[in-house]
Amino acid sequence: MGIGMLILLGLMAGMDNSNGVDDLVNLTNRLVVEQEDDWEVNEEAAADFGKRSLMGRIVAKRGITGNLFQTMFSRIWRNVLNWKVKVLEGSTDANLIGLSFHSQQDARWVLDKQPWLFNGGFLILEEWPGTGNWQDAKLDQVFSWVKIRGFPLNIFTLNNVKRISAMAGEVSDIKWNSTQQIFLNNFVRVRIGFPLYRSIFVGRFVPSNGNKVWVQFKFEKLPLLCFKCGIWGHEQLDCENEEATELDVDGTVVPKYDGAWDESFIRAHFNEVDAELILRLPSGHAGVEDKWVSIGA
Ligand SMILES: [Zn+2]
Repeated sequence: MGIGMLILLGLMAGMDNSNGVDDLVNLTNRLVVEQEDDWEVNEEAAADFGKRSLMGRIVAKRGITGNLFQTMFSRIWRNVLNWKVKVLEGSTDANLIGLSFHSQQDARWVLDKQPWLFNGGFLILEEWPGTGNWQDAKLDQVFSWVKIRGFPLNIFTLNNVKRISAMAGEVSDIKWNSTQQIFLNNFVRVRIGFPLYRSIFVGRFVPSNGNKVWVQFKFEKLPLLCFKCGIWGHEQLDCENEEATELDVDGTVVPKYDGAWDESFIRAHFNEVDAELILRLPSGHAGVEDKWVSIGA
């Protein structure tokens, strides 16, 4: 006879008649729960949730509450209805969120359009981890479309584009429909997942006819990025990192990001001004700037 049954008999002996049946039912339920086997499994519900859900990381100076996130992104994702958000760490300095959508299509749309940029921060996303545990999410890449320029035509091949893109991060898409059109444009568009915690890759020298030519990445949109160390999530004025450097064509150490990355440099290398303004929040929202933009292509 098991310990559980002994306890059961002991408790039954102590019961009065009026509550006996209820107590017995409660006790039996407890014993079932305490057994190690025969736990109910529902793979279907877990898989369904996984398909419709995403993990997100807010990269910003301040954390966000679930309510504020809901308010802001309800306006940004106008066509996406009935989604839920849960801040997964703390409250004030939180940056990890769980998102669950009405349909897999909604989740896919939000995922494909990332990162979602706002003034002072941005949101990166990934699929809900296959293990089912949000702690397994990595959320360490920032996806951005870049134009790659500078390849001499005789080395402007799809393989070379893949090669230099892979140096920058994870290549997720390359728009290479027609070599003729690409040559005419003199650039190729590539979507790359840049490592969040590494200095950003902006180009490199490649060998060509015994010389070196500079191949430049031009970012179509620019999330919060430090122009001194090249890492996302803070601005140059707040930077506590070493200045990133690189060897120039003569082997001289030069700042990787062309010194101060002043306005003219940024204008030459980035298209931030093209970002579409899609939301202006009423003033009074603590901790949120008034300008929100979508950087989805
Ligand atoms: Zn920095």
